[in-house]
Amino acid sequence: MSTEMLLEETLIKRSQQKKRTSPLNYKERLFVLTRSRLTYYDGKAEKKFRRGSIELSRVRCVEIVKNGGGIIPCQNKYPFQVVYDTNTLYVFAPSHDSRSLWVQSLKEEIKDNPVVWTKFHPQFWQDGAWLCCRQAEKQAPGCEEYNPFGDISRKPLPPIPGEERKDVRQRRPPPPLPPTPSGDDDDDGDDDDDDDDEEVVVALYDFPGAESHDLSLVKGNEYVILEKCDVNWYKARNKYGEEGYIPSNYVTEKKSGNLVQFGWYSKQVNRNKAEELLREEDKEGGFIVRDSSTPGTYTVSLYAKSAAGEGGAAIKHYHIKQTQGLPKQFYLAEKHLFSSIPDLIEYHKHNAAGLVARLRYPVGKQDKSAPSTAGFSYEKWEINPSELTFMKELGSGQFGLVRLGKWRAQHKVAIKAIKEGAMYEEDFIEEAKVMMKLSHPKLVQLYGVCSQQRPIYIVTEFMEQGCLLNFVRQRRGNFTLGSLLSICLDVSEGMEHLEANGFIHRDLAARNCLVNEALVVKVSDFGMARYVLDNQYTSSSGAKFPVKWSPPEVFNFCKYSSMSDVWSYGVLMWEVFTEGRMPFEQHQNHEVVTLVTKGHRLYRPKMATSTIYDIMQLCWRERPEERPSFSQLCVMISDSLEGDTPPPT
Ligand code: ADP
Repeated sequence: MSTEMLLEETLIKRSQQKKRTSPLNYKERLFVLTRSRLTYYDGKAEKKFRRGSIELSRVRCVEIVKNGGGIIPCQNKYPFQVVYDTNTLYVFAPSHDSRSLWVQSLKEEIKDNPVVWTKFHPQFWQDGAWLCCRQAEKQAPGCEEYNPFGDISRKPLPPIPGEERKDVRQRRPPPPLPPTPSGDDDDDGDDDDDDDDEEVVVALYDFPGAESHDLSLVKGNEYVILEKCDVNWYKARNKYGEEGYIPSNYVTEKKSGNLVQFGWYSKQVNRNKAEELLREEDKEGGFIVRDSSTPGTYTVSLYAKSAAGEGGAAIKHYHIKQTQGLPKQFYLAEKHLFSSIPDLIEYHKHNAAGLVARLRYPVGKQDKSAPSTAGFSYEKWEINPSELTFMKELGSGQFGLVRLGKWRAQHKVAIKAIKEGAMYEEDFIEEAKVMMKLSHPKLVQLYGVCSQQRPIYIVTEFMEQGCLLNFVRQRRGNFTLGSLLSICLDVSEGMEHLEANGFIHRDLAARNCLVNEALVVKVSDFGMARYVLDNQYTSSSGAKFPVKWSPPEVFNFCKYSSMSDVWSYGVLMWEVFTEGRMPFEQHQNHEVVTLVTKGHRLYRPKMATSTIYDIMQLCWRERPEERPSFSQLCVMISDSLEGDTPPPT
């Protein structure tokens, strides 16, 4: 029977239409070889989605790819090629043995094909040319003799095809039976194409396109991704065939099961924030679909004025449940089963059917302004100062005055004018290109610099509510435990992104975080301490050195790391839970050094539960390697946040 599986393994596949060798174009796929097809799936063996399938009778060549010393931008370093029709599929195996097995097994299956090549290209087709022979025509004839029986990764080549076949058979599952006449093992019996190369996305927001090489996005429209240039910018094509760069955070993959494309789904919203948003909106039947605390499951948070007693509106949280067994079905209230979550939401928009209200009014991202992009356009970090207009003063800091301004008359930005002699400007301008690529909803976005003039300007995302320290001080007495934890969670998420990118903040503190209009807290000024030209700030004995936020390895040896950022994060948590007190209020910096060295730590703020204070203390462990990472902190804080509110209704 042709459906019998000969080989199955998770390998990495390079997308075929992408020009660049970006790591994003390499995807893990579960490859399955039968006697008639090579099929690859998204997901695991238990739950997989077919992404492409190649009929073996159309395969012309299977061979390892000689890499010629080039960098392979994925973790599997053993490439092989499957050439079918006029296409070449590059697959990357995790080991020499795995690759040998695949190549030999495939060769065994195709050796009698009438279309098998006599010559082939032993190296990659890359950037518009064959690396082996430099021919720039994709269909150019092969430059090396092709041996459909041998494995050129093994030297010498196996001389007797019959022998080699035996070798392969021994490593396989039970011997295959002859193929069925149709030779087709497909569920739908159709395509043999590489159907995941055409990645279609849906725009979540409008994007006007800043430069001529950009492509404008219209919310709700579909686009084909042509190239993932970096994590922040993709090259895309619209339905009119126009091409250009788009910000990757403005689109989401169009595929069933991806809820991000729906206005009612808010991924980043926890229980506490959902309640805040629903109350703020104050609309009957206001609802948000969000991730539950159990990963992979969802909750509908619903606001009902009419159901409330004297005490105001009621907020209910309904877990979206799934039936056991297949096909999987979803429900909120028993008896109303749906094959997908969008179907379920659609039904409950019209029928309360057991809920406290029907889902009348989606609350959340559709009203919110679009997120920041990593710069105003792809690879654009220099901003033309004549495109900036200046408005009010926002504050002043170590580097100089910060003003609110507009870019191209409509995009609000914060503009920092760097005063003379305050910064190692050349070094910073170089680093700015790296910093701009750090793009995350919990990091204040750097948009670019005006570096061709003095003073130089640093242009960043504008944060309406100013710095976090003043924000908590000004609202003292008005915070709930949940809202304080929510602030800490925002900061830990921003820091997790820096940690994941190997970027050290060096001066994390409440004064270096900012708050926006939607009360989202974001980390600012990351890495900037390195460019300060002021001994009082940079020397650990200087008056401006942030000793009270520093662990012993920093105030003693200036040894910065993500673990030293974690210590500072503990102090920031303390600042938040004291609603803006000065750490070690009664002590001078040099006294703090002595106290901390002796093992003394900040006291437990009244608002902090013992669990929260435990988290702070973990951050202040003397040995850096014993402190939690930011990703662990994110989990701890979100667990505390869920635990803080009553269990789901
Ligand atoms: P420096 O880096 O020079 O020390 P800061 O970044 O601390 O300066 O900025 C000084 C003050 O300016 C902040 O405390 C804040 O009130 C205001 N500010 C800075 N950046 C922004 C911004 N992006 N949005 C709104 N206000 C800002």
